[in-house]
Order: sequence, then structure tokens, then C-alpha cells
Amino acid sequence: MRTSEDLRKIYARLEQMHAWRGWHWWPDGEPFEVIVGAILVQNTSWTNVEHALARLREAHALSVEAMDGLSDEEIEELVRPSGQYRMKAKKLRAFVALVREHGGLGCLLSLEAGRLRERLLATWGIGPETADAIVLYAAKRPAFVIDAYTQRLMSRLGQGPATTDYGEWQRFFVERLEPDRDLWARYHALIVLHCKHLCRKRAPKCGECLLAEECGFSGAGG
Ligand code: SF4
Repeated sequence: MRTSEDLRKIYARLEQMHAWRGWHWWPDGEPFEVIVGAILVQNTSWTNVEHALARLREAHALSVEAMDGLSDEEIEELVRPSGQYRMKAKKLRAFVALVREHGGLGCLLSLEAGRLRERLLATWGIGPETADAIVLYAAKRPAFVIDAYTQRLMSRLGQGPATTDYGEWQRFFVERLEPDRDLWARYHALIVLHCKHLCRKRAPKCGECLLAEECGFSGAGG
């Protein structure tokens, strides 16, 4: 049975295993830096994003105003370590234009969560996962972020819908967990940490996992 209680139990086990670990948006980061990270992490690893963020920081470009003052070529050069740098520079430009349209980052982020998500999704280069990461970690409002890690872990545990559809997966969580922003922010972080450290795509470390008893996949790994 896939109940709220199941999701609570999984959360508690993840906390037991990973609460001590550090994660890039935990505790909360600066909103613009979170947003830039959420855009740059598309199709790459966080390590590459860190290199790009370090260059942006060094160039004092981690503010809407500063980025707005840079040329396309300058942004491309700064975000080069995150890969697909021309496209990502264009996405950052599109986000900066959205901010300008709303009279500043504070005004944009204080829109009602549903409206903010809508505006983000209407912006070039921002899909549901990036939009929800921005709502959750930059605007600090409840939005359950779904990614490949979430689908991998939950499917192995026999949870979640039998589809990869983003909306259905999000509904699965939203209908079973109270809309508690901090809980959702930690839940997503813990899933990412678990999948990086133990529930890896190949050779998961099931022998070290506190979820092994309730996991149908356990034993397939090391
Ligand atoms: S038992 Fe293995 S497959 Fe199952 S959740 Fe844990 S690490 Fe992942």
C-alpha cells in the first residue's frame, strides 16, 4: 500500500542515513545563486556547476544587476565549465529578462507559488524540474521537485506511479505529504544524497542501506 505513512517512514530512514551530510542548498542559499545553479545543473553534474559558480563569484556576476550588465560572450565564458554554455548563457539571460519584467528578484519570488511556477515555465529554458527547484529553494515555497533520482529510488522501493510523467510523480508526493516547505526541501535533498552515495544506478550499496528490508531491489546490488 502506498500511503503517507510509507513516505514518512522512508523519509525517517533517509534522515538516519544522511542527515549529517552536506548538500549544496541545505541550509538555504542565496536566492539568485540557487537559481543560477538550478539552471546550470541541467544535463551536468553539480561539480561542474560549482566550477561555473566559482567563476561567476570571482567576476562579481552573481547578482541580477551584474549579470544584466555582461555581454552574451562574457556570460558564456563564465559558465563554460557547466557545459552547453551557449545555451545556458541564453537561459540565464531569459531569466534575467523575467526578473526585469517583474521589477526585481524580490518581486518575482514573492508571487503566489502557482503564479510564480507558471511564469517560470513560460520562460525559455526552464522546465518543471528547474521551476520547482526555484520555487522550493529560492522562493522557499512548497513545490515537490521530481528528478531521475526520485524516480529511481521510489521505483526500487515499489512506490510511485508506473510512468515517468513529471506531473503524475509530483501528484504522488503532493497528495500524500502535507505542504510543508522545509520537509519537502529536506526530502528532495535526502533523496539526492541517498542516490549519490548508496542507491546508485549501477551496483547500489544495499548492504549499507536502512531501507533494504522494504526494498524489492535489494540484493541486486553489492
Ligand atoms: S536497498 Fe539498495 S536498491 Fe533499495 S533503496 Fe537501498 S540502496 Fe537502493
